[in-house]
Amino acid sequence: PTHEPPEPLHRVSGNNYDADNPNSDRISATLLSLVRNKELQELVQSMQDLEKTWNHKFNYPWTFINDEPFTEEFKKTTQAQTKAKCNYHQIPKEHWQIPSWINRDLMRESNALLKDQNVQFAEMDSYHQMCRWNSGFFYRHPALKDYKYYWRVEPNVHFFCDVDYDVFRYMQDHNKTYGFTITLYDSPNSIATLWPETLKFITSNNQYLADNNAMGFLQDKEHRPEWNYKANGYSTCHFWSNFEIGDMDFWRSEAYEAYFEHLDRAGGFFYERWGDAPVHTIALGLFEEASKIHWFKDIGYNHIPFYNCPNSQKCHGCTTGKHYDGEPFLLKEDCRPVWFK
Ligand code: GDP
Ligand code: MN
Repeated sequence: PTHEPPEPLHRVSGNNYDADNPNSDRISATLLSLVRNKELQELVQSMQDLEKTWNHKFNYPWTFINDEPFTEEFKKTTQAQTKAKCNYHQIPKEHWQIPSWINRDLMRESNALLKDQNVQFAEMDSYHQMCRWNSGFFYRHPALKDYKYYWRVEPNVHFFCDVDYDVFRYMQDHNKTYGFTITLYDSPNSIATLWPETLKFITSNNQYLADNNAMGFLQDKEHRPEWNYKANGYSTCHFWSNFEIGDMDFWRSEAYEAYFEHLDRAGGFFYERWGDAPVHTIALGLFEEASKIHWFKDIGYNHIPFYNCPNSQKCHGCTTGKHYDGEPFLLKEDCRPVWFK
């Protein structure tokens, strides 16, 4: 089996996807990576996998973004991994810095408490800044203005399966907004007030709710009642956002902009450790038709320590059906059953 989604699927024929074809079949889309200079080798690993399994056929451009300037070595080495165009950009200061309304003393005290509750990276300011940027700023970067779709790629991830169709055109042709590979329960302590803040927002903005939204998924308490309880009403099940194939017009919508602004003012990106994964997931679950969210089960993927590994002859180097590879006590469970229910 290949597990490919249904036709139409747009494939390579002749030179329609050549890197230098000015009339290529590529649509408005980019591979996108927020990354630090010191992660060069890990990023090269990700690039090599994605080029080998997919992009050498389609030659979509890469966009690299950093809060600091990229080094010449970084640019030279990454461009050498692909025939496609690579673009390098810095984040505007005002998109990255901790906003003026955040109380630094409160932030430090809150994060010390979260650290005691084993919330990963609670005391690392840049991690909070990264989560906020991935939640509300990446799609506003001037370099992405003319792009509609993006595929988020992190350093040190793996892609295992040959994919023979243009996934961006799949998104467009089938009217999809968002694609994921892995779903997980989150650490409730990192997002204790995210759902209560969300409810405040929708109470006064219910015009933004989609007709066929995924409220039942977001509020599920049948599968893991204790996590829903600790997260004050949210199941914590989320699309794991180190992999995303998405339509930026959703993040640019009035509904999402208003929602992000509300969350940002509430301060939880810094007083708690709200991740972009639960923020994106909740927004999609509320403001988008559930049918526009797609599980790319044919894209074999790993970001330590989780896998999506389909049973297909097109996949190499991962174990079929494997989900987790790490210390048993750190196990976070797959919550795909909650999504598909
Ligand atoms: P994890 O996957 O949650 O463990 O977090 P990562 O350390 O992988 O960070 C998520 C993504 O943001 C990766 O693509 C990182 O390269 C990137 N990232 C994290 N912090 C920074 C930062 O301070 N600056 C830049 N430029 N990228 C960052
Ligand atoms: Mn990562």
